[in-house]
Order: sequence, then structure tokens, then C-alpha cells
Amino acid sequence: REWCVALPKVELHAHLNGSVRNSTLLELAKQLADKGLIVFEDVKDVIMKNGRSLPECFKLFDLFHILTTDHDTVTRIAKEVVEDFAAENVVYLEIRTTPKNNGAKGMTKRSYMNAVIKGVKAVEAVDVVLFDSNSRTNDTLTCTPTIELDGDTKKKRIYVRLLLSIDRRETTSAALDTVNLALEMKDQGVIGIDLSGNPVVGEWETYLPALQHAKELGIPITIHCGEVPNRKEIQAVLDFCPQRLGHVCCLNDVEWKMLKSLIIPVEICLTSNVMTGGAPSLELHHFADLYNAKHPLSLCTDDSGLFSTSLSNEYYLVAATFGLSKPQLFRLAQEAVQFIFADGNVKKSLKEVFRHAEKRLM
Ligand code: 5GP
Repeated sequence: REWCVALPKVELHAHLNGSVRNSTLLELAKQLADKGLIVFEDVKDVIMKNGRSLPECFKLFDLFHILTTDHDTVTRIAKEVVEDFAAENVVYLEIRTTPKNNGAKGMTKRSYMNAVIKGVKAVEAVDVVLFDSNSRTNDTLTCTPTIELDGDTKKKRIYVRLLLSIDRRETTSAALDTVNLALEMKDQGVIGIDLSGNPVVGEWETYLPALQHAKELGIPITIHCGEVPNRKEIQAVLDFCPQRLGHVCCLNDVEWKMLKSLIIPVEICLTSNVMTGGAPSLELHHFADLYNAKHPLSLCTDDSGLFSTSLSNEYYLVAATFGLSKPQLFRLAQEAVQFIFADGNVKKSLKEVFRHAEKRLM
């Protein structure tokens, strides 16, 4: 397990509000309970519960959003989430989050994202590199995951990039607003679009204009695909051919073949899929088939808070379940660099990080 923690890792599928620490959620719930807005005991039981079916998860997200959706709290959770991933030796992190309008809190999609960025920039425990057109020097190349500070103090470095999620409950116009916001914020660390939200809600045709718009603008796209066996939508998603896909649990043989022939990189979320029933068990998870077929893939957490996991734990599970050796785990982590949405300079830098780590870990 310690080796999996020490391994430098790339996280490509992490939802901000699904990655919040339980302790923070409980503290926020206590504050709302003190104001008489919720009953703490009811909420506490829900937050601490272990079993998470797919419908339960989406009820929980509605609760999390009540607890977290004001500017200061969004800033706080963004900061903590980056700190937690950095503590796991994640060297490149794409956080995805749904920009939210909330009139009662004076919140717009833009101000929500500003609050997220403020949180990412507030991290002090590690050196965060978030692209900023005003300080391009931020993005200078580095050869190791650590930098020298004051001679001998070492500080870890993490690259953070943001993906804007379209929630399946949103209208076409709201989804288009999110894509336009991504374009507006491209110099502030926003580099892609995600389609997520309850997979039994909404219609592909509703989001298609926004996804098409993003494609035309050259914004990379990742889509949650096949969390439920919705044949029409899975086919439409494969036909759309985004840069990456999340989950791919319920594909039939024809769709599976098509996925493989299109060579679309897959974000694999083992714990999440087993907990929500997308995969029957760890042993029978479709990771094995894709891995054996040398299909491009990357291990991810999805919702580390909600599913009580970490990226190191996901690597450990792969070793324990499928018998991957340390060199194989190392290659898996290293190959994920190819599927990041950030530019070539970041890729180059991350390759160096892995080259140095190889000497240390292998
Ligand atoms: P947020 O976007 O609010 O930061 O993160 C929570 C949101 O991410 C949820 O409300 C949901 O829209 C999306 N999400 C988190 N986990 C999953 C998942 O496993 N599947 C899908 N389809 N959406 C998810």
C-alpha cells in the first residue's frame, strides 16, 4: 500500500463535490443544524453510511450541494480536495465540477468557478501549477515532483486543471452557458467539458448542441458512458467520439468492439462501479478485459469522499485483484500522462517526473 502511495499518479476523473472529506461535510452539517436549517442526526447517518447504490448517490449529491454551495465553502472544499490528492502523490489532477447558478446565494456559474479557482490557488502545502495567462512562468518545466525551497526545504508540486461538468438535469441553454464559460476561462486552468449527472435522467439530444459547440471550439470532452444500459445513448456517445470516456460499464458486445476499435481512452473507476452496481465485483470488473487488450485507460477515483477511496487505494486494488506487478502498476500510472487534456509542455514535464520516480521506485 505504501508503494502505491509513493507512486506518482495522474487523476483524470474526480468530481469536486464527490471528493469532499467526511469531516468537512459533518462540520458543515453541524453549522446548518445550529442555524436550525437541517437535523444533524439525520444528515450524519446519511453521510456516514457505507452502501451507495446509484440512486442513493444522486440523492446524496443533492444533500452535499445544500451543505457546500456558497462561495466560501466552495473555496474551502476546492482547497482541501487539492491538498488531499497531493498528499497521495497525485502529480497531475483534473478536477471536474458543475458550475452552479444559485440566486439565493448571489451565485452565478462564473462566480462559482471563481470560488473554485480561489480555493485551488489558496493551497500552500504544495506548489500548485494552475495555468494563468498572467503568470505563464507558473507553467515552467520541472524535472522532479519536488522543488527546492530555501535551499533544503522540499515542497511537492501538483498540476491542477479544471473540467466543467454539464449536469444531465440541465437544459440545452444552461449546457451551452457552461461550454461558453469554459471558453471564457481557458486561461484560468479550465481545459475541458464533462457530461455527468444521474444517468437515468435527461436526453442525449438536450446536451448534444452544447457538446457539438465544445467540439467546434476545440475544447476536449469526456463523457460518462454506459453507467446504465441505455443502448440508444451509448451508441450516440460512441458515434460522437469524445476524447475520453468515463465508466463504460454496460456496453454490449457490439458497443464493446466499437469502443476498442475507436481506441477512446477510458477513465476506470473500480470502487465506484462496484459500489453502485455498474460492475458485479472487483474480480469481474471490465478493467481486466481492457487492460489485457492494451486499451488506453487510466485508474481514477470518481468520488473519493463518497466512496471512501483514494487513488493509491485504486492502484492497490488493481494489484490485489488482478495480480499486477510493481512495474506493471508503474507503467499504468505513467501511461495515463498520454490522456491528460493539458498541453504538451505539461506532458513533457510529467514524463520527467515519472523518469525520476522510476529510479527511486523500481
Ligand atoms: P460537482 O459537479 O457538484 O462538483 O460534483 C458532484 C456531481 O458530479 C453530482 O451531482 C453529479 O452530477 C456528478 N457525479 C458525481 N459522481 C458521478 C457518477 O458516478 N456518475 C455520474 N453520472 N455523475 C456523477
